[in-house]
Amino acid sequence: MRGVRVVIGLGSNLGDCLETLREAVSQIRHFCEVVTCSRVYETAPIGPPQPNFLNAAVAVECTLSPLALLDALGHIEADLGRDRESEVRWGPRTIDLDILWTSGPPIRDPRLVVPHPRLHERAFAVLPLLDVAPDARDPATRAPYSVPKNQLVRLTAFEL
Ligand code: ATP
Ligand code: CA
Ligand code: CA
Repeated sequence: MRGVRVVIGLGSNLGDCLETLREAVSQIRHFCEVVTCSRVYETAPIGPPQPNFLNAAVAVECTLSPLALLDALGHIEADLGRDRESEVRWGPRTIDLDILWTSGPPIRDPRLVVPHPRLHERAFAVLPLLDVAPDARDPATRAPYSVPKNQLVRLTAFEL
């Protein structure tokens, strides 16, 4: 993915969320160049009742293949205490790392779809994306991303 800009979304709503987001970024730096970090947002959860999330995004440049990047992010999730065995869909988690968007060609693999299929409907993903990639467009429509209305997203004073 050299020369290709990739945006990784980060979310956490269990434990010391800010510290977990920062640790995730520090581990992402082991295999990617982190070009820009978004601001940190407090957001309402989707799925079952659970604490609010902290969400952010980083724009990276990376030489890993998309699937190798997905696997590397999975290792960080496991290292930061995410236990997929015991979790419910869209339930609370110490860390969620999604590949939100790429400046390269769209990806359609059974394990990986980029742009993230639900990106455009989630204010908690679009807002951090636009912080780090303000010119990002949906590759299918070429339309710029707009922030969905009526979803609770509060800018925090925290920085990654
Ligand atoms: P959502 O995908 O709606 O944000 P989630 O993040 O809670 O939900 P996970 O359980 O973390 O879902 O991931 C489920 C699967 O999604 C992963 O095993 C992965 O293979 C797949 N996946 C597909 N596209 C992506 C992507 N762009 N980023 C991360 N995972 C993806
Ligand atoms: Ca997710
Ligand atoms: Ca995920």
